[in-house]
Amino acid sequence: MDHNLPAATDPHAEIRAEVRKLCARFPGEYWRGLDAVRGYPTEFVRALTEAGFLGALIPEEFGGSGLGLSAAAAILEEVQAQGCNGAACHAQMYIMGTILRHGSAAQKAAYLPGIADGTLRLQAFGVTEPTSGTDTTALRTTAVRQGDKWVVNGQKIWTSRAEHSDLMLLLARTTPREQVAKKTEGLSTFIVDMRTAKGLTIRPIRTMMNHNSCEVFFDNMEVPLENLVGTEGRGFRYILDGMNAERLLIAAECIGDAKWFTERSVAYAKERVLFGRPIGQNQGVQFPIARAYAQMRAAEAIVSRGLEKFEAGLPCGEEANMGKMLAAEASWAAGEACIQTHGGFGFAEEYDIERKFRETRLYQVAPISTNLILSYLGEHVLGMPRSY
Ligand SMILES: Cc1cc2nc3c(=O)[nH]c(=O)nc-3n(C[C@H](O)[C@H](O)[C@H](O)COP(=O)(O)OP(=O)(O)OC[C@H]3O[C@@H](n4cnc5c(N)ncnc54)[C@H](O)[C@@H]3O)c2cc1C
Repeated sequence: MDHNLPAATDPHAEIRAEVRKLCARFPGEYWRGLDAVRGYPTEFVRALTEAGFLGALIPEEFGGSGLGLSAAAAILEEVQAQGCNGAACHAQMYIMGTILRHGSAAQKAAYLPGIADGTLRLQAFGVTEPTSGTDTTALRTTAVRQGDKWVVNGQKIWTSRAEHSDLMLLLARTTPREQVAKKTEGLSTFIVDMRTAKGLTIRPIRTMMNHNSCEVFFDNMEVPLENLVGTEGRGFRYILDGMNAERLLIAAECIGDAKWFTERSVAYAKERVLFGRPIGQNQGVQFPIARAYAQMRAAEAIVSRGLEKFEAGLPCGEEANMGKMLAAEASWAAGEACIQTHGGFGFAEEYDIERKFRETRLYQVAPISTNLILSYLGEHVLGMPRSY
């Protein structure tokens, strides 16, 4: 069953076919084995890198493929739809956007070619902190300028892939909150070279899925002055600038997950025979699958509208946020239907359903939780009073 557009009308049909071919080399057993030991999919990430997929958004002049966001979304959607997990490396695609948009010419020349060919991994994003959580501007990590360097103190949490990244994009406060007119000011972004940084400690957090997320501690960590990205104090704005792209890409992953679950559900519902007929002949089995499919299609339509607007340079906050929320809910609904359709077998590791079910649950919380999306829609799209 192919849920994609007919090849003739899908501008990314070729990319999808290539990704499918690559993913076929990494079947369920590969992911199951890693899941059991919380291992990192090094071979899979290498294969995606070598095929040029992770450098999709980097302009050709810096060694990337110079593709648009819709191509990147097609890549990640297809990875998920084939049962693989792009979370191990999706950030390599988009964190670099901050350097591309706001970095100096020297930073672009120094980092982007290496990120494009995979010799430099920029896939750690240090924003969330344990005390401030979603209230980002309340973060406590500070970077203080001392002579020819910045000195960083504080802590991040949920820094995914920190152990598998050479560089981290770090958001830290450079002017105390009391000394700025708006709490969104006084935050700055830095490129931290995690290979050489002293005073940096990384502690993995074991989670319900294999996500390689970590706590990161900074104890008088020194960062060269030239590693500040853009203008001091404008960092929060820079992080916001990248959020629509991130949300659309994560939404595409959820759509891929929903397609994977639905394909599994339909196949099993047709093949499992009980009481003398396939279980899928019962509408009680059919309807949750059909409903989740409709949810996925609706999310997909919003996401593709968001991608169109993004590529046309139009504001797309509404679609990026709605698309991410609806896609995360659709993948969860499809996962729930898939477990239920499989009965007891849905819980058996060898079917991969319970693994994908655990993996896709994350996206109702990260990178932004559903309540915060609803709050964005309520306030910024519908014009209701600000709630926080
Ligand atoms: C596996 C994993 C990987 C992650 N990777 C990264 C990463 O690489 N880099 C990074 O910086 N962060 C990362 N995160 C962090 C993620 O972005 C946050 O977990 C998420 O934004 C929610 O923040 P929080 O966990 O602090 O929850 P909190 O902010 O404490 O919120 C808790 C709950 O309260 C709700 N809530 C909070 N405020 C309001 C409000 N005003 N109105 C209504 N509801 C509200 C939220 O919706 C949420 O459900 C990751 C998280 C996880 C679990």
